[in-house]
Amino acid sequence: MFIGDAIGLDFLNSVAAPVDTRVEWIGSGAGLIDWLRQSGLVQESTLQKIARSAGPGELDAVAAQARALREWFREFVQAHMGTTLTRASVRELAPLNRLLARDELFGQIVADGNDASGPELRFVDDRRWRSPESLLMPIARAMAELVTSTDFTHVKACEGNTCTLLFKDTTRGRKRRWCSMAVCGNRAKQAAHRERSAHAK
Ligand SMILES: [Zn+2]
Repeated sequence: MFIGDAIGLDFLNSVAAPVDTRVEWIGSGAGLIDWLRQSGLVQESTLQKIARSAGPGELDAVAAQARALREWFREFVQAHMGTTLTRASVRELAPLNRLLARDELFGQIVADGNDASGPELRFVDDRRWRSPESLLMPIARAMAELVTSTDFTHVKACEGNTCTLLFKDTTRGRKRRWCSMAVCGNRAKQAAHRERSAHAK
């Protein structure tokens, strides 16, 4: 379900009904860990460490917080998609700013041996993952990134009948209509075809 072209939107898409039944990806702590892994937002070693050290029920509680954050953010995105965000939006985003204020980021210089042509040293972000709750931080940053670097006039909802997926339209001419051609695009094509053949009879 990473079809949003922006991780902040992909997070909203972590609950969806791609083939009619609603699928909740982050219904539990394990689901949240899995989503963070698939999204690439948190390193595997960090996820494992947090999963190991979390008390019983702690990760499930964080997943519940993540879902609440997600549904709050969905309201914001749905209210503003298709328009340009203005300075006034910062007030609506106050809950997100409060969450971001708790982040414990720091920078580190690392020797980067992966890319022979790149620089030998790199400056990277790291974070003190003090509690399972800190798993919300990369998500909050992805949301902040979305509202500050994406033109909201290009944020769209899939036109599929029952589809709830959101995406950033990066196509030339901004003609994207579907979460994916394979799912909703084809369904719409088949429906249009059925309609045409019904009329032809
Ligand atoms: Zn769709």
